[in-house]
Amino acid sequence: MSQFHYQDGELHAESVKLADIAASVGTPFYCYSTAKLTQNYQNFSDALGGLNARLYYSLKANSNQAVIKTLAGLGAGADVVSVGEMYRALKAGISAGDIVFAGVGKTRDEMAEALKAGIYQFNVESVGELRALNEVAVSLGKRAPVALRINPDVDAKTHAKISTGKSENKFGIDIDHAPEIYAEAARLPGIDVRGLACHIGSQLIDIAPFRHAFQKLADLVKALRGRGLAVERVDLGGGVGITYREEQTISFADYTTAVAETVGNLGLKLEAEPGRAIVGNAGVLVARVINVKEGVSRNFVIVDAAMNDLIRPTLYEAYHQILPLRQPADEAAVTRVDVVGPICETGDQFAEQRPLPPLATGDLIAFGEAGAYGAVMSSTYNTRPLVPEVMVKGDRFEVVRPRQTYDAIIGQDILPSWL
Ligand SMILES: *Cc1c(COP(=O)(O)O)cnc(C)c1O
Repeated sequence: MSQFHYQDGELHAESVKLADIAASVGTPFYCYSTAKLTQNYQNFSDALGGLNARLYYSLKANSNQAVIKTLAGLGAGADVVSVGEMYRALKAGISAGDIVFAGVGKTRDEMAEALKAGIYQFNVESVGELRALNEVAVSLGKRAPVALRINPDVDAKTHAKISTGKSENKFGIDIDHAPEIYAEAARLPGIDVRGLACHIGSQLIDIAPFRHAFQKLADLVKALRGRGLAVERVDLGGGVGITYREEQTISFADYTTAVAETVGNLGLKLEAEPGRAIVGNAGVLVARVINVKEGVSRNFVIVDAAMNDLIRPTLYEAYHQILPLRQPADEAAVTRVDVVGPICETGDQFAEQRPLPPLATGDLIAFGEAGAYGAVMSSTYNTRPLVPEVMVKGDRFEVVRPRQTYDAIIGQDILPSWL
């Protein structure tokens, strides 16, 4: 059973009525389910069980301390893409030795901070970055543990903005140049090259691109070993896609098979960096209907959440389920409406011509599958405070980030001396 479900006509998160949270913290707010987080983590971990693999939760999907700490308690390491995220991981109790640092543009300051902390692995994305990391490490009297991120030139068949494994994307080292760069890495005094990494994109719902990329990695491992270079680890990148609408995504069985049949029997330590697959369906965004506006050609349901709170619909043309908190009657008439936020942009839209049961001013709705790339991508555009995040566990809920105050936002500004 889903951790977000109707019970006695009301949408619940585990055993908590979402409407009760709304009454307590106001709207909009994000709500996360501990049970769902746990189940997702365990399922992913089980999928790679027996393959000598370790999970590094990708913090960029959702970096609330409560989420990280919950996952850390289950044994997760962390995949970070900035030093800020490294601090978040450390603060939540993940040790430096369980942190992988990815990203195409690490600064020298960030490299130095991560080296001093003693992280597990740097995923290096270019020869320039490799040489810079070498210099920083040498200057600190350290050796940086490195995996070279390979760009396998594989089309992940996902949204263009989250597709990262084609040769025209900015990410990774072109696979044809990898052997020479790996050999160089093995010679650099400040670099301890351990293996390869790959991340071809997010929200993959077809196993074929994964399999293709993993096979290219396996071939590269053999080629490097053939040249006498040691390869101990392979990082498989992000996780499988999730179901937002009714799309069939990758089954764990297929994922396991693809991993096992490609890189599975090379005596490697495997790593995976799932984000969305862990938190995506463990969170919802709850909002209240401000007004229903009957336009000339369309009807608009205007809600108090907006693109600054959840940008995925407008940034990725993403679909999020919309569920009224009060369960609609089976016979309720469905009409097509546009669900929009109050921001002064036409792009501030959650759904276009969505068939929904009747909604009226004051009604509460939930956007489904909002746990990943939701709160972390929010902004204060239109001077809208960041919304609260709430975590549920069984019949308990607690605020894990309070609603930002107007003073906190406006107080950031400083007047120059001449005003
Ligand atoms: C974003 C990202 C991930 C996580 O991707 P998901 O699809 O959320 O699992 C993992 N690794 C890297 C390098 C990333 O950039």
